[in-house]
Amino acid sequence: MTGDGTRAVHAGIPEAEAYRPPVPGPVLAAHYHLPGDPAVAPYSYGRTGNPTWTALERAVAELESPGEAAHAVVFPSGMAAVSAVFSLLRPGEAAVLPCDGYQMLPRARARLEERGVTVRVAPTGGDAQLDALDADVRLLWLETPSNPGLDVCDIRRLVDRARSLAPGALVAVDNTLATPLGQRPLELGADLACASGTKALNGHGDVLLGYAVSRDAELDARLREWRTETGAILGPMEAWLAHRGLATLQLRVERQAVNALAVAGELGRHPEVAGLRHPGLPGDPAHETAARQMRYFGCVVSFTLPDREHAERFLAALRLVHDATSFGGVRSTAERRRRWGGDPVPEGFVRFSAGVEDAADLVADVRQALAAARGA
Ligand SMILES: *Cc1c(COP(=O)(O)O)cnc(C)c1O
Repeated sequence: MTGDGTRAVHAGIPEAEAYRPPVPGPVLAAHYHLPGDPAVAPYSYGRTGNPTWTALERAVAELESPGEAAHAVVFPSGMAAVSAVFSLLRPGEAAVLPCDGYQMLPRARARLEERGVTVRVAPTGGDAQLDALDADVRLLWLETPSNPGLDVCDIRRLVDRARSLAPGALVAVDNTLATPLGQRPLELGADLACASGTKALNGHGDVLLGYAVSRDAELDARLREWRTETGAILGPMEAWLAHRGLATLQLRVERQAVNALAVAGELGRHPEVAGLRHPGLPGDPAHETAARQMRYFGCVVSFTLPDREHAERFLAALRLVHDATSFGGVRSTAERRRRWGGDPVPEGFVRFSAGVEDAADLVADVRQALAAARGA
């Protein structure tokens, strides 16, 4: 098997063919020439399939499951992928969700409950998720590391427990923060690796994208049917941009992880910084589990400044780091997460996403912004 960098460069790229481009351009088509029986046509109508999606889906499947066949389905956003997976649940079935995950999950939970699905929630760190499992569980949805709190759960341990209690349960992992280079849920026993590719996978802050990958053909078919029926499809241009950017995924993920650790190291030296979290920090409560199941620890660092005004002064004083939401991009961003109202975090809580700038420049910027926020 090749290394991550090689795989990222070649994933989903067609065999070399004389006088053809190495990366085929986006196929813009609402329909295709379609003689005869549509059932045997690889492409018939644009809501059902598109060769640019196919190439990206092959790439994502290869990255999430190198060496073992898997199927990826791409969606126009991470939430579209989440909704597709949640659509597998029927009234009367039960799901276990994290209570500290992505801020849209409480809303997704309400939709599930409207449909008669029983939902139990538990935090990502500790043993509460294990305790929430029971024989009625049909879907265990994990998000590790969690956004924005950066707690980590032991995927294999939870998969084993879910399998022994409820043999028919599906385990899905939101792999947004880690990316498939940082963590491979399918190798850890999960049925589905899902993500918002809007973040680090695309990494350039110009595309919204989601995906779900499994090794099960029937599961794959059900997710594809959902996409066709709901019409939640990715534009070919977005698919092409994301695929083009995958060539640098390994470079970006590695550099961003190094930069995140450098920023976390600097933040740890300042007494006004509390609750510093990054799974790559040796002293972090999540480090031991993260080190067992992750290969890169991600680009996000979270921490808390004394209050809202202090955090706002810090964000305003940063020169290289944009005050913006989302994370995982080549340009560093940071935001006061509480401004959205959703996450259960303190007013001074900052989520920092390290980009691919020089680590020394980021560290210097963070240092001067902390000083400015103190009023020094
Ligand atoms: C952003 C995010 C999502 C939602 O993705 P969109 O592309 O914004 O729809 C889901 N899960 C996590 C962990 C995220 O960070």
